[in-house]
Amino acid sequence: MAALTDAKRLVVKIGSALLVDAETGQLRQNWLTSLASDVARIRARGTDVILVSSGSIALGRGVLGLPLTSLALEQSQAAAAVGQIKLARAYEEALAPHGIIAGQVLVTLEDSEDRRRYLNSRATMETMLGLGVTPIVNENDTIATDEIRYGDNDRLAAQVAVTIGADQLILLSDVDGLYTANPKINSAAKHIDHVEKITPEIESMAGDAGNGLSKGGMITKIMAGRIATEAGCSMAIALGTSLYPLGKLENGAPATWFAAQTDPQTARKRWISAMKPRGTITIDAGAQDALSRGKSLLPAGVTHVNGSFGRGDMVTIVAADGPELGRGLIRYTSAEARQIMGRRSADIVTVLGYDGRAALVHRDDMVL
Ligand code: GLU
Repeated sequence: MAALTDAKRLVVKIGSALLVDAETGQLRQNWLTSLASDVARIRARGTDVILVSSGSIALGRGVLGLPLTSLALEQSQAAAAVGQIKLARAYEEALAPHGIIAGQVLVTLEDSEDRRRYLNSRATMETMLGLGVTPIVNENDTIATDEIRYGDNDRLAAQVAVTIGADQLILLSDVDGLYTANPKINSAAKHIDHVEKITPEIESMAGDAGNGLSKGGMITKIMAGRIATEAGCSMAIALGTSLYPLGKLENGAPATWFAAQTDPQTARKRWISAMKPRGTITIDAGAQDALSRGKSLLPAGVTHVNGSFGRGDMVTIVAADGPELGRGLIRYTSAEARQIMGRRSADIVTVLGYDGRAALVHRDDMVL
């Protein structure tokens, strides 16, 4: 069974009901302070931490004096616009005393469905983590319409975990995990500690236990579990209401852990391999050697570009004498790739008139 202390890259989802007092619409400052010290302790042992936090609508609603339920979509979006500022500042101020810099990332469902945007958000979050920044992610509620909304941050958090190759996702919730039946209705309901695989039987236990502040019930958590575990990320549903919720989980508080079905690297390689190739990149012996030593593919080693593709499309990489060497997601369009092939990365800006990424296909986006 996974344990929080083993996490290398951890995504923590924080629901509105934990962060915002339902009655007053005010931030639960003590709680956030306790979470920040949990985060600082986990980061100090070398774990990357990404927070996916709800609360913008709940906070904005408090400021605007809007009712708790039945807001029109536009009203929720207006509330989110007001609340997101407060939310981001709250995290910034809670993390600062620990010397941690927070960075705001707002995403939509479209961003994870569009491969180019997906690669951009992956690269940005990766860079943030490299700079020691803790990303604070939420849905970009103000621009998302009904059709392009995640609607709940459980699935958003799972998608973020997949995007950045996290090995653990913790959904902090107002329940301490999955039960065989809804414990609020059925006193015979039993807590489940470990789910090896999400089966239809597990799904049928999920019922729906939504509350006034958050959109997601148990069903969306199970859906998140499916997304995460299939991509190689273990997931836990844990009680978040008390102070130091992550510390409590480390010290054995009850939770439901869902086992990862593979590891993030294998899942990502499988994902890339399953795409339809849109073009072929022929490389020289020098580049072939560099790839075999684990390097990215630079434009300098490319001799031919075939096909018509966009950024983020999958291309096959072949040797001059023909055999396929690997596959990967390309960071330039076919037109751009033709212009910069054979050139040094430092020349990209002169050739294209704008600066791009040094690698044509980054190591992390490649399967050999
Ligand atoms: N993105 C919404 C907010 O920040 C919450 C979505 C959810 O219910 O998780 O208020």
